[in-house]
Amino acid sequence: MTQFTELGLAEPICRAVAAEGYDHPTPIQSQAIPHILSGADLLGIAQTGTGKTAAFALPVLHRLSLVRKKAGPKGVRALVLTPTRELAIQVSDCFATYGRHLGLRRATIFGGVGMQPQIKALAAGIDVLVATPGRLLDLAGRDCLRLDTVEVLVLDEADRMLDMGFIHDVRKVVAMVPKQRQTLFLSATMATPVAELASTMLHQPKRVEVTPQATTVERIRQSVLFVSREDKRQLLVDVLSDKSVGRAIVFSRTKHGANRLAEQLQKSGVTAEAIHGNKSQGARQRALADFQAGRIRALVATDIAARGIDVDGITHVINFELPNEPESYVHRIGRTARAGAEGCALSFCELEELAYLKAIEKAIRQPVPVDDSHPYHAEDIARRSSHGPVPKPPKRGGGGNGGNGNAHNGNRPPRQGGEGAARPAAQKSPSAPAGEGRHAARPQRSRRPRPKAA
Ligand code: AMP
Repeated sequence: MTQFTELGLAEPICRAVAAEGYDHPTPIQSQAIPHILSGADLLGIAQTGTGKTAAFALPVLHRLSLVRKKAGPKGVRALVLTPTRELAIQVSDCFATYGRHLGLRRATIFGGVGMQPQIKALAAGIDVLVATPGRLLDLAGRDCLRLDTVEVLVLDEADRMLDMGFIHDVRKVVAMVPKQRQTLFLSATMATPVAELASTMLHQPKRVEVTPQATTVERIRQSVLFVSREDKRQLLVDVLSDKSVGRAIVFSRTKHGANRLAEQLQKSGVTAEAIHGNKSQGARQRALADFQAGRIRALVATDIAARGIDVDGITHVINFELPNEPESYVHRIGRTARAGAEGCALSFCELEELAYLKAIEKAIRQPVPVDDSHPYHAEDIARRSSHGPVPKPPKRGGGGNGGNGNAHNGNRPPRQGGEGAARPAAQKSPSAPAGEGRHAARPQRSRRPRPKAA
């Protein structure tokens, strides 16, 4: 295993890292640091929690300490752009920690607070500036800082930057920094718009990717539940009433949708909270603490709000709406099955989402098994999916479904998509999280009434 000292980082940096108790570089660090030290541009695909911040901060600090020069009044040598103030503070703290023996000048700027202290901090010139794009442009427009001195430009969490609508601001910043520079581009996902932005910013980049996707996806028992839009909420309540669902994160596409869902769940007796960008930092932290402590069972989140949530023991990820980017699917379901545990990912799929499902199955290179055992199963949608029609249930005695002929079958195992085949016994989740309940291992089905037909 590589040691920090083998990476070629300056001794004061290695000392600071050792003081943090880091024994070895993480995979993104051992892969990215040599490239960055060689002066190359970097395209790094890594999520929070992989050690990505140190992966760029350590070599940037090394470069700055190697060639000691003043940035000049209002000048900046290394500029790190982050989408949020929270991340800006976090990243800046990392630079402070790892660079504590280097005596470099550092500043952090973001919106929502007074400008004067920031203007003052920039006046004498800065070695490392961590900034959110809006406030940075504001200050640049007021002549409070110069970006033509930038030697290294880092874009952290680029995908989130785009999600939050900062693309134009980022492009403006890029236009203000010198063409001759080193650029480090970090993103958790590489959806098309992110890749397009990267291609305009990077010059012959070295690509480093550390996504725990494959192994994580393998440990997660995924299923798709075909359901009409109007039945989705009831289906969610039904799923959450299952005792095998210990702690669930429910993904909603919109903030309003998240609020409505959380309210509906509360009314139905499920402890739930919504977290999204319109909630105050305090409210978000309270919801997370309640979720972590088990005081609420369901956290309803938008994709952006869910970034960085690292709560152990999430037994279920429920895609109330399917994401339109397959990468988001992988990241969403990766919220469960943390630290070697197993987890379930249930995706509600309505007619309009069939194309998303198809894209997801292509990306994960496997069909998502269909769960047609729930009371809201929409056979018409199942038929139109690439999974084909659900085979007619075998004859069974009594207790007919009372609905439109597609009630879940107590004896039918979930089907593997594409072939209409039953899930092989080996796949019947030998170690489901809670081990029992309809949305856990599901080897057996109970016959449930179809509420709609009642
Ligand atoms: P990040 O992905 O940058 O958000 O880092 C996630 C966490 O990993 C932070 O708390 C870091 O302090 C920690 N970390 C970063 N690098 C290492 C390392 N080489 N060994 C142990 N912990 C690390």
